[in-house]
Amino acid sequence: MAGSYEDRDGWIWMDGKLVEWRSAQVHILTHALHYASSVFEGERCYNGKIFRGHDHSLRLLKSGELLDMPIPYTADEIDAAKDAMLKANGWTDAYVRAVAWRGSGEDMGVSARRNPVRLAIAGWEWGNYYGDAKMKGAKLDIAKWKRPSPETIPTAAKAAGLYMICTMSKHAAEAKGCSDALFMDYRGYVAEATGANIFFVKDGEVHTPLADAFLNGLTRQTVIGMLKDKQIKVHERHIMPEELEGFEQCWLTGTAAEVTPVGQIGDYTFEVGALTRDIAESYEKLVRA
Ligand code: PMP
Repeated sequence: MAGSYEDRDGWIWMDGKLVEWRSAQVHILTHALHYASSVFEGERCYNGKIFRGHDHSLRLLKSGELLDMPIPYTADEIDAAKDAMLKANGWTDAYVRAVAWRGSGEDMGVSARRNPVRLAIAGWEWGNYYGDAKMKGAKLDIAKWKRPSPETIPTAAKAAGLYMICTMSKHAAEAKGCSDALFMDYRGYVAEATGANIFFVKDGEVHTPLADAFLNGLTRQTVIGMLKDKQIKVHERHIMPEELEGFEQCWLTGTAAEVTPVGQIGDYTFEVGALTRDIAESYEKLVRA
């Protein structure tokens, strides 16, 4: 399926009902478009079941709360809406995008209490997020922007405003022939990529940045659990950029990225080693189990 995302056949769930794809529209005076009052989820459905779908619904509600825009649905209602959207489109394997935002209404300034919080759920078929990087390892640029302090913005929310620097950093990375960019945080610690968390391997043990200033991804949490089940030691800690030189393997985790090996970050190179491959395969099995 090619072409514009607004010009497709199919169904999108919007504010309580399924609407024809091309009719899923909002007004130009939508608060979210002007002030980033928007939170979202990215999920994957495998063999007819969304992996950790309910956890994604709960995180969406949490993100809404963190942005002072309570979403007027329960997690169970959101789960049902996702299933209805998938069924209407006849998909068993798809990426699912839920988005909640402040709509247009009586307010058009920064304050927006009188504007409704709206919810839509769309989906599409999406293969490997990093193309052939799954086999040979993705190449990452180092972003010039930093992940902000939790005192600056609610960093635990999956909020649209946090992605402004992601798009800018990813464009810059792609212009250099990289598939993504790695952020440091406001303190200079290694943080995450523009839409995925990061893991490193050294001497048979795993190191991953402490999720205290960025999204603690559900895939990250799943992979940490898998490593622990395999009796592999996981260190969640602050990682300095100088340490990149000493790591042997590296991978990214995310709903879209799944487990993607990393071959290079800036001038540092990593092997797509046995543990990376094992975790990628175990994750693929788990999500389809
Ligand atoms: N960090 C960012 C910035 C992301 O956009 C994502 C994708 N949602 C992740 C991490 C990974 O989160 P998850 O594993 O829950 O998809």
